[in-house]
Amino acid sequence: MALPAPDLPPSPVVPTIDLAADGVRHGHLRLPYSRDDSAWGSVMIPICVVADGEGPTALLTGANHGDEYEGPIALYELARTLRPQDVTGRVIILPAMNFPAFEAGTRTSPIDKGNLNRAFPGRPDGTVTQKIADYVARALVPLADVVLDFHSGGRTLDFVPFAAAHRLPDPAQEAACKAAVEAFGAPYSMTMLEIDAVGMLDTTVEAMGKTFVTTELGGGGTASARTAAIARAGVRDLLIHAGILRGAVARRETRWLDMPSGDCFAFAEEGGLVAFRVDLGEAVRAGDVIAEIAPIGRTGAAPRPYRAAMDGILAARHFPGLVKPGDCVAVVAQILG
Ligand SMILES: [Zn+2]
Repeated sequence: MALPAPDLPPSPVVPTIDLAADGVRHGHLRLPYSRDDSAWGSVMIPICVVADGEGPTALLTGANHGDEYEGPIALYELARTLRPQDVTGRVIILPAMNFPAFEAGTRTSPIDKGNLNRAFPGRPDGTVTQKIADYVARALVPLADVVLDFHSGGRTLDFVPFAAAHRLPDPAQEAACKAAVEAFGAPYSMTMLEIDAVGMLDTTVEAMGKTFVTTELGGGGTASARTAAIARAGVRDLLIHAGILRGAVARRETRWLDMPSGDCFAFAEEGGLVAFRVDLGEAVRAGDVIAEIAPIGRTGAAPRPYRAAMDGILAARHFPGLVKPGDCVAVVAQILG
């Protein structure tokens, strides 16, 4: 169920700006949210539209998860600096799509615990998070030719910086997504396998036939100078690639990675203190120990090794030093080129 049902009631979300007019507009998506401290209150999600004339539309979203910062850094900055005369067509910028989660610095919403990227296509009569998903899916994605949704690892994961596309049933659409990923020009480009694709913005946008790019640019609940710079450069080059900004795509060197199967992932079977034997970006061979997790309740207990199931590089790792049962410890990706 990636696409919205055709017979849903209208969204309660009201944009405070005209999404169709030329020029620069800064405003909000106002989402009514009645609560103890504000009887007729609203959640105000920042939105910026920069448009000039006929041309393609790009939808750029950050903070789908509230503790991932490269997207918001690049997109608040883009909204401050992009001028209509730079644009052919339209750029719709939502720098903090799950604004309640972003404000709280948490992956999920403090209002309803909603994980926005598991809530698509959403519901107009659901929770606050479901209402955000529904508005984006039914009012914004249909306007867009290309959608860029920024992610990084948040507080519990860290990644080598990559932009990503998914394997899609339509080869032409997959090729268009991969060309857009390559234009983004992150140090790595990934053909990404999702643990659970149900409810993701990715799936909804792809089901509408659009060109979609996602990213994982770092993590640990912050952004580095390097990963913020990758985000800034990537969004500009993607807009050039889409024909919305003038200029030439920089064509930075990128290495394609693949996640061919679920063997990429290592999940913790027991909790404890994690000691990595390999750092992000380093090569591993099948059978190599990536990390050991030691019980912390007593001394003398042997740590449990977690091994690579295939040759590749360490593409993602658990971030905090303590691991719980079920946590994703590591992701190994194959190098394609
Ligand atoms: Zn995320």
